[in-house]
Formats: sequence, C-alpha cells, structure tokens
Amino acid sequence: MTTSIIGFPRIGEHRELKFATEHYWKKRATKEALLTAAKNLRAQHWQKQQDADIDLIPVGDFSLFDTTLDAAFALNVVPARYRALGLSALDEYFSLARGYQSDTESVKALPMKKWFNTNYHYIVPEFDDQTDVKLVGTKLFDEINEAKAQGISPKAVIVGPFTLLKLSRFIGDKQAADFAPATISAYKAILAKLGQQKVEWLQLDEPALDFNLTDDDKALFLSIYGELLSAKGNVKVLLQNYFGDIRDVYEDVIKLPFDGIGLDFVETDQNIALVKKFGFPEDKVLFAGVVNGKNIWRNHYATTIDTLHSLNVKGPIVLSSSCSLQHVPYDAALETNLPETVQQHLAFAYEKLTEIKELDQILNGEDQGGLAKNTDLFSTIRHPKSAAVTERVNQLTDADYTRLPARAERETIQQDEFELPALPTTTIGSFPQTKDVRQNRSKLRKGEITKEEYDQFNRDKIKRVIEFQEKAGVDVLVHGEYERNDMVEYFGEKLDGFVFTQNGWVQSYGTRGVKPPIIWGDVSRNAPITVETTVYAKNLTDKLVKGMLTGPVTIFNWSFPREDITPEESVTQIALAIRDEVQDLEAHDIKIIQIDEPALRENLPLRKTDWYKRYLDWAVPAFRLVHSGVKPQTQIHTHMCYSEFGDIIQAIDNLDADVISFEASRSDLSLIDQLVAADFQTEVGPGVYDIHSPRIPSVDELETIINKIIAKLPVSKVWINPDCGLKTRSETEAFEAVTNMVNAAKKVRSQV
Ligand code: GLN
Ligand code: ZN
Repeated sequence: MTTSIIGFPRIGEHRELKFATEHYWKKRATKEALLTAAKNLRAQHWQKQQDADIDLIPVGDFSLFDTTLDAAFALNVVPARYRALGLSALDEYFSLARGYQSDTESVKALPMKKWFNTNYHYIVPEFDDQTDVKLVGTKLFDEINEAKAQGISPKAVIVGPFTLLKLSRFIGDKQAADFAPATISAYKAILAKLGQQKVEWLQLDEPALDFNLTDDDKALFLSIYGELLSAKGNVKVLLQNYFGDIRDVYEDVIKLPFDGIGLDFVETDQNIALVKKFGFPEDKVLFAGVVNGKNIWRNHYATTIDTLHSLNVKGPIVLSSSCSLQHVPYDAALETNLPETVQQHLAFAYEKLTEIKELDQILNGEDQGGLAKNTDLFSTIRHPKSAAVTERVNQLTDADYTRLPARAERETIQQDEFELPALPTTTIGSFPQTKDVRQNRSKLRKGEITKEEYDQFNRDKIKRVIEFQEKAGVDVLVHGEYERNDMVEYFGEKLDGFVFTQNGWVQSYGTRGVKPPIIWGDVSRNAPITVETTVYAKNLTDKLVKGMLTGPVTIFNWSFPREDITPEESVTQIALAIRDEVQDLEAHDIKIIQIDEPALRENLPLRKTDWYKRYLDWAVPAFRLVHSGVKPQTQIHTHMCYSEFGDIIQAIDNLDADVISFEASRSDLSLIDQLVAADFQTEVGPGVYDIHSPRIPSVDELETIINKIIAKLPVSKVWINPDCGLKTRSETEAFEAVTNMVNAAKKVRSQV
C-alpha cells in the first residue's frame, strides 16, 4: 500500500515559526531571517515524513499564517484597501491577517473564523465586485521546487475551489457562483503549472462538503469540478474531504473523473456507510483517513484493520490521516513528565507517522511486531474512575438545570442591587500578559522564586489594573487573570482528572498556539480555584469586581477528550466541578460571575441537522447546571468569541445567563438585527472593538459604533466592552483602548 498524510503541523516543534514571525513583526528580524526559518521548518517536516516512509508527502500545507489566506492571496483575492497600503507582498499578506496601522494609515484585519469543528482559525477571504480572480502567487510552486531539491516526492496541497468560495465573504452584488468561472480558470492554471513541474498528485482540500449542501451548493460544486477535471493534464487530482462526510455528493463524486477520493473514517461512521452502500470505483484511489488527526491517542490497529477490510474496496488504497496533523502536537516523546500509564497511550504527529507506517506493514503482511504490541497496549487502559463523581451525576434531576426566578424577574432585582449607569462598561477578563507576567510564571516553574513571591507579584499586578480601571471609569472591574497561562489549562490544573503536556502546542491561529490539557480520568474539584484572587481584587475597590470562570463546554472542547466515555458524560462532570466554584464565589460575596464559553459554538456538528440532537441538547444544559444554584441577586455573565450565533440564537438565550458579551467588531453588526428579530432576552455586550489587532480605536469611532448598537437594541439591555480578553495586547494598547471605550460610552450615555 501507499502511505500519505493530509498535512503536517507547521509552527515548529518548539514554536520556531511563532518566534521568527513575531520578531519580524516587531522589526527585530529581517524578512530573510523569517523566510529562512520557515524554509528550515519545511525541510525538517518533509524529512521526518520521509524518514517514516510516508510515500506521498504534502507540500503547500505550510503557511506563514493561514492556508485559506494563502489560497486567496495566490488567487489575487486582496481587497483594494490593503493593496492601497503599497506594502511589500509579505507585509501585504500580514496586513490582511492582522490589520495595519502606521502614522498615516489604519486598516482592520480581515475577519477570522473557526476552521470547521477544530480550534484552528482561518482568515475569511473577502470578494467585492471588482475582485479579479487569477493565479498570481507562486508559493505552492516554489515549495514544490524546494521539496524536489530535497529529494521529496511531493503531493501538492491547496484549499479547493469549492471550499474557498464557500468560506469567503462576498460584500458586493456578485456571489460565489459569479466567481466560479474565474476561479476554475485559476485552478486550471495551477494544474498546468504543476503539470510542468511534473507533480503527480494535487490534493484539493474540500472540507466544505461536510455541511448540509443546498441544491445551489451542489450545482456549484458539480459545475466547478465538471469543468476543472477536464483540464487535469498529467496531474492526478485528489478530492480530499475531512472532519465529516460527503453524503450529499458521494454518488456524484464517484462518477466524476477524480483520480483519488480522500475520506475521513474517524470523525463519523457515515463515510464507511457510504462506501459500503454505493461501492467505491476500482479505477480510483481511496485515500483512507484512518489515523485520527485531531486526537492524541494511539490508533487501535485491530479496529482500523477491521474497518478497512469491511469496506470491501477492490481498487488501490492509500493509508492516510483523517485530517491534517496540524491539529495535534509534534512529538509525544518530549513528554517526559507524564506517568508511563498515560504516556504510552499518546500519539502526536511523529507517532502518527509511525502508526501509518506500521499499519501499512501489518496490512502488507510485513508486521514487525507492531500489532501484538498495540493489542497489548489496548488491553491495559486504566482511566482513573471516581465513584463519588458517578454517584453525583446519577442523582441529577431536572431541577438542577433550572435557575429561579425567571430571567426577567432577576433583571429587575439585579438593577436595584447594582445601580449601574446606562451602558455599563466592562472588559472580558484578561489584561495584557506582558513579559514580566510570563517571566514571573516561568520563574516559579523553574523554582527560582517561591510561591509567595509569585503570588505577591500577581497581587501587585492586580492592584495596578484595578487602579487603572478605577481611573478609566470602568463600571464592572476584573482582576486581570494574570495567574492564568491559559483559560482552560488553568482550571484543568486545579481539577482532578486532567493531565498536562510540557510541549503539546497546537496552532490556534497565525502565531498563536494553545496547549490543550488531556482529560484522562473522571473530573472533580477538590479545592477552591479562583476564590482567593477574586476576593483580593474585590477588597481593593468599592466598585463591583466580577469573578472569572471558564465554562464546562469550553473546558471540554479545548481539551483532548477521552475516548472511553461520551462527550456528554465528560461535560457533565466538568459542569459539576465548576458549579462548586460558582457557589463558592457567591458565598464570598462576589456578586457578578462570568462563565466564559468562547468555544460553545466550536463543536457544533458541521451539519445543521445534527446541531441539537448531537450537541446542543447536552451542551446547553451543562452550562445551566453550572449556575442554576445561585441567588437571584447574583448576576451571571457569559462570553463567546464569535459573532456567528445568529443561527443558534435560541440556544444561546437558553443558557439563561443574565448578560452575554461577544465578538461583533470584526464583522458588521448584522448579528444585532438577528438579536432583535429573535427577541433575545439576555442583556448583551457586543464587542465594540477588535482586540486581535494592535490598532487603537478612537473615541469617535467607538462612539459611532455604540450609537449604531443602541439604534437597534434597547439601551437598558446593552453593555459596552471589547470583543475579547486583552491578554495578547501590550499594556499601552489595552489601557488606551479601554480608556477610549469608557469615554465613548460616557459620551453616548450623556445623550440618552
Ligand atoms: N476571560 C477570558 C479572557 O479575557 C476570555 C477569553 C476568551 O474568550 N477566549 O481572556
Ligand atoms: Zn473571547
């Protein structure tokens, strides 16, 4: 058999790409230094795959920021406002990704969205009526040459035309279908170029086939490929899907002249069912996604082999990953702190390469002992179980999921309790995690300072940020979250049931990485987590200070899950643990508690038809379970990082929080109309500026936005806040922006 993977991580085993890019942005390194670092990483990645005997090595999956942006950029999809900056190609590329600000110019970044059901984020390309789609970029071809020079036989990879059009935003009159002819021509040009380079395979990534497709979507897909495949030349075209199934087009796809079809056999059973039901053409290559690219556990070889046999495919099979390995860390062997019982079950990107190789050996009858070792391993899984947790979960009743009295009644009670001004201002929680904050944490980790010194440093920071917020005139204060490295890791570390990696970074967006905790056993809280810090902050001021927690759905979605219990069981365990913390904060006189659920939307099944029954029907109750026990006077906030909850608006309202803040600034304010239309009851803080960009919004600009918001929503329901936490900004940026925000709110307030 042949072996391949869909894509590889790109940030570097030790996040080299992050540091090289950030140095370049800060003008501490030259363009050449950045490009050399990137080139070295590609070379290392290819070598690793070569060493593991991967036959078809993806090339083009690397990116300086995001591969969807790469495809748009290569196809000349660059809005005029970025072009007008007159930057070098590299800086123009980064301006799309992160905005641009100089003494004379100021342009916002393009919006960023979750990449399907992962925690990766892509840049949303923007088309207007003038967009002239044509092949202008050489990135893919340059990388092919680079790989060839290294003796690699490359499989070229690029986001496919259908997915590119489906994920983009069309701001003029022309829509996706209007751009199809030009897009097809551009992809034909890519095929021609790869033909000249004698590339055997082109992998077109088409995860957008996972959605419920409308008739128009199907027509678009079929018209694109009907035409494009007539121009393949010598290049073999692989239609690569992942994160779901292609049930809406399977029967069409197997008839089209694709040379290969790549399916995910891990995420769902649907593709297996499709292949069994409709068969798989003998003249095409099946790229079988059997090694999980999203989870970190070892593959169970016997199950995988059974699955492959059950497909009954007569033609050639390529063993592959279920999706790009970009969603797992590099190397499990670097995790030397974990107990052997856990360690032996881990497979990160490098180990997954080995798994593909071993599966290939086993299937070829050349097993070198891999199967026996694997079977042995799976006979010894020992997830720590807790009888107390099981008991508590079993005893839950409907009442545990219902907060009383009803929200409208609470709203009046809370207004009397807090006496906040109209359009109260607040922030989302974190303040800048500046160098000194990170150094303090790393000194503690290295044992260079005592815990007391560490805490004292953070207390000083809290004091400073409370003083800042009082001076700026913020109404509901936060302590700044200096003690948190990461909003999920921080809670995971204090709860029973989690384990942690030292180096398990995965890319979240651009240069940002996350190090997800691993859920290994039953989860429970053994001691208070945030109480001491929150109470310390509260005692420094007469203003209200809100407590900051991460919600159960987010903790779960941003961790690597167990495979032996259901997501629902896991989330309920976490919800009970966080509920204990909510009760404790309330008992310590914390009157406002924010339970962040930025990742609630993230694990929505890709098919809308599955949203409730396969997710929201347990995710929403889990959130309600966390806060249903508090007094009517206690105000529950939540926060979500995305602006796309229009379609689950009812579910969000059903969380039964008192206030929700969310991202709105990067997109237009169209969500507000949807809130109005849905008669949304929760009070709302639509983010008034984009914290992902270093750009500081002016008071005038903020005033305009606030006025736009209150033109649509009743003033009594509106809060004023940034669109997310400020941890990634510099202190100057954060302080200036928040000060401008408060001043803008005050100006508007005086007029209402
Ligand atoms: N409270 C968190 C913060 O401010 C929320 C982060 C998030 O939404 N991702 O950092
Ligand atoms: Zn956020």
